Parts: sequence; C-alpha cells; structure tokens
Amino acid sequence: MKKIRIGISACLLGFQYRYDGKSKKDSQIIELLREHAELVPFCPEVECGFDIPRLPMRQETGPRGVRLIVIETGEDVTDQMREWAENRLLQMERLDLAAFIFKSKSPSCGLSCQVFNRQGKELPLTGQGYFAKLVRKKYPEMLVCEETDFPEIAEKLKF
Ligand code: SF4
Repeated sequence: MKKIRIGISACLLGFQYRYDGKSKKDSQIIELLREHAELVPFCPEVECGFDIPRLPMRQETGPRGVRLIVIETGEDVTDQMREWAENRLLQMERLDLAAFIFKSKSPSCGLSCQVFNRQGKELPLTGQGYFAKLVRKKYPEMLVCEETDFPEIAEKLKF
C-alpha cells in the first residue's frame, strides 16, 4: 500500500540542525509514523543558508512589522528566509503532503511563538513561526500540528 507523505521539522526526526547543533528527536512520533507514512524533513533555517551551530533568532516587532532577527547581532534575516521559502513552497506542491508536523515554539517552525520588542521584552502577542505561517497560507487545507499535539492529528489521519 502506498504510504502518505508527511512533512516534518527536521530536528524532530533527529537531524542535528538546531541553532545549538542538537536535535529534538521525537522517537514516539517517528515510531508511530514509520508504519504509515513517508516522512519528508524540512529545516527552514538550515535550508535557507544558516550555519550549524548558529546564533539563535527570535521574532521582533519593529517599523517593518514582525521580523525574524538574530538576537545577538540584530541582523534581520526575514528576507533570506522568504526568498528560500518561495521556491520551497512551490516544490512542496509536487510532494502532495497529507500533513505537516512542526517543532513547537520555534520562530521559524512553531505554529505559535513568542514575539519580542526591540529591547528584548516579551510581548503579549503570539506570533507564528515564519515558515509555518507561509505553509499555512499556501496550503490552508493541510492538516498541521506541533509535536506536542501530535495525537490529535494521528487520530484525524486514522493511525
Ligand atoms: S528551523 Fe525548524 S526544523 Fe530547523 S532546527 Fe529550527 S525548529 Fe528544527
């Protein structure tokens, strides 16, 4: 039987792609999905050209709206990720993904994430990871979840 395809944040699959050079491998998800699905890893930060390890980034509000900023240097890396994402989102069409599992809290992958002001103060504003937001906009019908609410999506997919 042909397996469905599911996109997943690469660090959840065990790729050591996080800013600190570590992974966030989720063995429970991998074990359960291995039987039913082909998992397709995505890492917006690494695929758009950032190093491993790298300085951490966060979402900050400023004159140009909410932007992706390297915390230590203040570098605005939003455009770099947007340019990469435009192509990657087009390629995704061919993959025909049934669902996407995102890494929670990430400023790139989280379905929700913390937003800060330019002085580094947490705002009572909830953002969406930059890449996750673009995926949801382009594929509004796609089932999406974070690893923390995976059981819910597994039920919808009848696993
Ligand atoms: S950008 Fe996403 S996939 Fe890459 S390390 Fe961060 S959370 Fe994981």
